[in-house]
Amino acid sequence: MSAATTHDEVTCMNEKKVDLASLKSKGFLPQRQENMFSMRLKVVSGNLDAEKLREIADAAEKYGSGYVHITSRQQIEIPFVKLEAAEEASYELEKQGISGGSAGKRVRAVVACQGDRVCRNGLIDCQNLACRIDEKYFGEAVPKKLKIAVTGCPSACMRPQENDFGVMGTVKPEILEENCAGCKRCEKACKVGAIKVLEDKARIDTEKCILCGACIAACRKDALRAEKTGCTIFVGGKAGRQPRQGTKLLELADETQLFSILEKTFEYYRKEGLDGERFGELLDRLGIEKYREEVLP
Ligand code: SF4
Ligand code: SF4
Ligand code: SF4
Repeated sequence: MSAATTHDEVTCMNEKKVDLASLKSKGFLPQRQENMFSMRLKVVSGNLDAEKLREIADAAEKYGSGYVHITSRQQIEIPFVKLEAAEEASYELEKQGISGGSAGKRVRAVVACQGDRVCRNGLIDCQNLACRIDEKYFGEAVPKKLKIAVTGCPSACMRPQENDFGVMGTVKPEILEENCAGCKRCEKACKVGAIKVLEDKARIDTEKCILCGACIAACRKDALRAEKTGCTIFVGGKAGRQPRQGTKLLELADETQLFSILEKTFEYYRKEGLDGERFGELLDRLGIEKYREEVLP
């Protein structure tokens, strides 16, 4: 029987020593069962085409126990892969363009909802944005793990406030008073009571408005339009044992601002972050204002 040696290395049946950190970097997470690994596969924005799904299903039968587990972050894991089979399983899936998910002190695969390609509430193309962010930053070394989520509207299905960097589609509505018929469809559509019809004309309370765009979709008279569409950025959020709600950094950011802030956030985290410190902890330690000054235009 194969046996574990130290916490940093494990030994196969053929007595070959395998570096645990290197296995983890390829997405193999040690199970509670000796020399068994759950093989995490990278899924960007929650999408996988049918061909890749078939390959994964085959791999689960061949190398695992014939099933996959879908994680809370849209990743797929094949549990019960034996240490001896890890290398081959990884090689076979890589050949099909399916790579291991990241673990440890690195940027995780970007998660996203279906956004405006599918969801009726979607305000931005989450899939495209998530893929571009992932292409640029996936697997980057950082002081601690870093999670990014892209969500299509303030319903916030991807919980951007619980991610180190959260992006949420938003839209600022504008009333064209001359077209308003006072029908109150917008008032009924607004879930937060931010738009009211007074003297037959719609009025928006900008303090209450959460920039969801439901009123624009409800209006049949072209009396509401999108003045600006962009995204709200949250930083420093995390779930887990000591959850931290992300801090709202900027509303209605355009893509240029978003990518500039992302880049500067990485620079800031690498420069100021202590080893093992999550981004939100860094913000708490040095203060949000210092960070704002560094990243905001
Ligand atoms: S966050 Fe909005 S766009 Fe995304 S799935 Fe939820 S409701 Fe749809
Ligand atoms: S739905 Fe349009 S037309 Fe009706 S009250 Fe609202 S803004 Fe005016
Ligand atoms: S954008 Fe959303 S929150 Fe703002 S007024 Fe319209 S429906 Fe209400």
